[in-house]
Amino acid sequence: MVSFSFYQVFGEMKSKRSFLLLPDGTEVGRRRVLLHSCCAPCSAAIVECLLRHGVRPTVFFSNSNIYPDEEYLIRRREIERFLASQEVPFVEDEYDYAHWRQTMRGLEGEPERGSRCSRCFRYRLTRAAAYAAAHGFDLLTTTLASSRWKNLEQINAAGCEAVEAFPSVTFWPQNWRKGGLQERRNELLRLNGFYNQQYCGCEFSAERLQKDT
Ligand code: SF4
Repeated sequence: MVSFSFYQVFGEMKSKRSFLLLPDGTEVGRRRVLLHSCCAPCSAAIVECLLRHGVRPTVFFSNSNIYPDEEYLIRRREIERFLASQEVPFVEDEYDYAHWRQTMRGLEGEPERGSRCSRCFRYRLTRAAAYAAAHGFDLLTTTLASSRWKNLEQINAAGCEAVEAFPSVTFWPQNWRKGGLQERRNELLRLNGFYNQQYCGCEFSAERLQKDT
C-alpha cells in the first residue's frame, strides 16, 4: 500500500474551499457524510479529496450487484485495505446477490446505462440512505458518480429518490469527476496497484465483456 502525505497527494491541486459545495451553495462544514462506495479505484481519490477538505467520511460498501461472490470479495478487500491506510471508517452492507437479481427481474436484457442500471443504483443507494438515517448521517454521496462509463444524471436521480423516505438525509450530487479527480483516480489506481475490474459488476455486464473480447 502506497501512502502519501497531505501535500504529496494534492500537490498539483490548488486548495479550493469552494469545490465541495452542496446544491444550495453551502459548504459541507461539520455535517456527517456517508460515502457509498462501489470499489477502490472509484473511491480512493474521492476519499482523499474529502480528507483534504476536512471531511472524514464513513464509507459504506453496499454492492449486492457484484457477481460472482469471488469478485465481490476481491473488490471489498481492495477498498478495505485502502481505507485502513487512511484510517477512514468502513461499513460493509449485507451481500445478497439473489435478492438483487430478483429485484432486477424483467430488466435482464436492458443495455448498460438503461433502466436496469437506474434500478440498480436505486437499490444500493436506498440501502445506504437507510443506513445513513439510522446512524445520524446528514449527507449521502456516492463514488458511482466518478465513473465516466456511468450516466451522472441517472445516478443523481437515483440518489434523490433513495433519500425520499429518509427526511433527515440529503443526497449530495457532487460531480466527482471534476477538480482533477479523474486524473487522480488513475494515478492512485497505478500507485496502489489496485485490482482494476473490467466490468461494472453484475452478471449482465460480465456477459457483455465476454462478448466484446
Ligand atoms: S451494469 Fe452495473 S449499474 Fe448496470 S445493473 Fe449491472 S451492475 Fe448495476
